[in-house]
Amino acid sequence: MRLILLGPPGSGKGTQANLLQDKFNIPKISTGDILRAAVEEGAELGQQAKKFMDKGELVADEVVIGLIKKRIVEPDCEAGYILDGFPRTIVQAEKLGETLAAMSKDIDSVVDLEVEPEELLVRLTGRRTCKNCGTMFHQTSHPPKVEDVCDECGEELYQRPDDNKETIVKRLEIYDRETAPLKEFYRKQGKLKTIQGFGGMDQIFSELCKMVS
Ligand code: ADP
Ligand code: ZN
Repeated sequence: MRLILLGPPGSGKGTQANLLQDKFNIPKISTGDILRAAVEEGAELGQQAKKFMDKGELVADEVVIGLIKKRIVEPDCEAGYILDGFPRTIVQAEKLGETLAAMSKDIDSVVDLEVEPEELLVRLTGRRTCKNCGTMFHQTSHPPKVEDVCDECGEELYQRPDDNKETIVKRLEIYDRETAPLKEFYRKQGKLKTIQGFGGMDQIFSELCKMVS
């Protein structure tokens, strides 16, 4: 199963991708996570990427395309994967299409999670993420049992540097401009499915599972 999750920042793509990864035993591939890991490592790639990420802007297409091309040929991707946060531009989608066509391995479905912009802002400003395992919490709607401590692994939670109001507004604008056109791109290929991203995380997950299996 090769799957793309579309949806604006805060729509819950990452959370749903984590759940899918556990249920179907295929890896979630998040370009955001890969880039943040590169930033942590302090590698040249990370240092370059950080400048864009902190401002809420997109990292260059060729950089993320390069990362994805390397990642999807790893052995754990044999049975499929979930793409979270990639593709994000038409160029990225086209390159992915060409790469997969050359491997005779097409994307099976693209699921778009739709959430109102006001709700996204609330979710993102209150979001706290585990430094260690990536589990996400929310200050008011889904707080951890102990403040700033991950329920799953006990490590410290942090607020992503790009989860502040100004940067969030910018990310949402860029989503509308650069990424939302992918809906039409995949609709034309007959691959697009849409889920309303409000309601509980479990309810959305069961809908998503019905859609993809
Ligand atoms: P969110 O979906 O919440 O904005 P991500 O973790 O997917 O967060 O991405 C964080 C940042 O990483 C983006 O704002 C962007 O700078 C960079 N990034 C991630 N994926 C891509 C991509 N496919 N193309 C370009 N930049 C990306
Ligand atoms: Zn954790």
